[in-house]
Amino acid sequence: MAEKYQMYIDGEWCESSTGETFEVVSPVTGEVIGIMPKASEEDVERAIKAAHREKENYKFLSDEERGALCVRIAEELEKEAEPFAKDLVMEQGKSYYQEGYGEIIESAENLRNAREDLFRMPGEVLYSKINGRKIFVKREPAGVYASICPWNFPLVMPAEHFAPCFAAGNTLVFKPASYTPISGFNFAKAIERAGVPKGVFNLVYGPGPSVGMQMVKHPLVNGIAFTGEDKTGIEIQNNAGLKQTLMEMGGTGPEIVRPDADLKAAAEGAAYGAWMNAGQVCCSTQRILVHKDVKEEFTKYLLDTLNDVKLGNPMDKDVTMGPMNNEPTIQKVELHIAEALEKGAKLLAGGKRASGFPTDKYFEPTILTDVVPGMMVHDLETFGPVLPIIEFSDDEEALKIANSTKLGLQMSLYTSSLKWAYWYQERLRTGNLCVNESAGFWEPHQPFGGCPGTETGHGSIGGRYTIEEVTFRKTITVNFNNCY
Ligand code: NAP
Repeated sequence: MAEKYQMYIDGEWCESSTGETFEVVSPVTGEVIGIMPKASEEDVERAIKAAHREKENYKFLSDEERGALCVRIAEELEKEAEPFAKDLVMEQGKSYYQEGYGEIIESAENLRNAREDLFRMPGEVLYSKINGRKIFVKREPAGVYASICPWNFPLVMPAEHFAPCFAAGNTLVFKPASYTPISGFNFAKAIERAGVPKGVFNLVYGPGPSVGMQMVKHPLVNGIAFTGEDKTGIEIQNNAGLKQTLMEMGGTGPEIVRPDADLKAAAEGAAYGAWMNAGQVCCSTQRILVHKDVKEEFTKYLLDTLNDVKLGNPMDKDVTMGPMNNEPTIQKVELHIAEALEKGAKLLAGGKRASGFPTDKYFEPTILTDVVPGMMVHDLETFGPVLPIIEFSDDEEALKIANSTKLGLQMSLYTSSLKWAYWYQERLRTGNLCVNESAGFWEPHQPFGGCPGTETGHGSIGGRYTIEEVTFRKTITVNFNNCY
């Protein structure tokens, strides 16, 4: 029997005011695993009003109290790490042992870091040209934040929004992705148990275009933290008006392999970035640009990495890759592969859904070669376990191909030349570059984000950089003359 879940509004667990619900179907088993209330306009209104009412109270808790709340939420997540990870795996599909359990721990780490980062936030005192005056520059919370998250990391993406918001003194209304709302419910349980005051955190479920958009347009919402696809992000940005926005969107990160690279390490880095979460990661290795002189040897190493991939039930210990999450994403992957093959690419491995599993969402790790710009698998975000190999002849050409898509979120470069590493880092149009490291690399405290001239978004996720994003700079000029 599927479990029935509730929303969390103004400190109370509740159903939808209309009684409407929707189902969550596990990509692992095909079973309905959750019945969720679908928020009505009235529910969303109530959630936003509660967050609005509490914003002035919450920001006046002491920094120590808000920091302690973050630590207590982290503790509550850690206490329930096993059941939360199991729920996450069953609704999302990633491997429990390789990734799912770690996602709960990383979410807690984000919250613990937020307390530390809060205490290290710098303020400034500026001199004035006029005697007796000083100019203070400090950060203030924006107020009510709408957090809208994707399904590929159902716990850590929200944690990347919640941790800086709770630390800085914002209140929140959260809408998880409709494919993975159970992790949102679990997060809310941890937040309630940690003692976060009533109304400070609110959870609603429902379709992005209605529930999410209501949050985006609402006049009492002061800031929007969005992680998701480029198309959605652009629509949200166009409707956000003058609200503060933090936009974390998609990527087509290439790994560039120069002829002087350690080819085995480059192949392993590509594989890590490509097969993690079945390729459903914004910074997965979505393209490999390899120099023509080393393409053959590199490809051999890359094919060897397939020996370490085991597709199967993500709760099994030896399984490294579970099913993909949802049908539209799989159909996009199939479309990109079919178009590439039609236009002359060759299939070296995989290429289709795997048989013999409880659902048709298990997809074979796929390697394509002879891919060129102009194919969808090169130009667009494929978001599945697909590695397209593109050949280049010199660095100018590699640079041109790397920069030719609109989604340069995170890139990777393998080379043993410091000179060339420097050359590329100055020219690649990307928010993040990993040198001799997989495109799939990140750590929670580092700034991670998109870059101008692309459709990857703006603002940084990670550590104190996100506290800066969810606050605003307030300048206070004080005339000390005639004061006592
Ligand atoms: P998505 O379709 O854009 O959905 C993301 C969230 O936005 C979901 O909660 C969705 O609700 C909601 N939404 C959809 N349409 C909306 C609208 N018109 N107004 C307001 N909200 C709306 O993205 P996804 O498929 O869940 O996630 C995959 C994407 O996220 C990929 O492109 C990936 O690269 C990107 N991503 C980026 C980062 C990063 O840090 N840059 C990290 C992770 C993922 P529903 O679920 O109800 O549709």
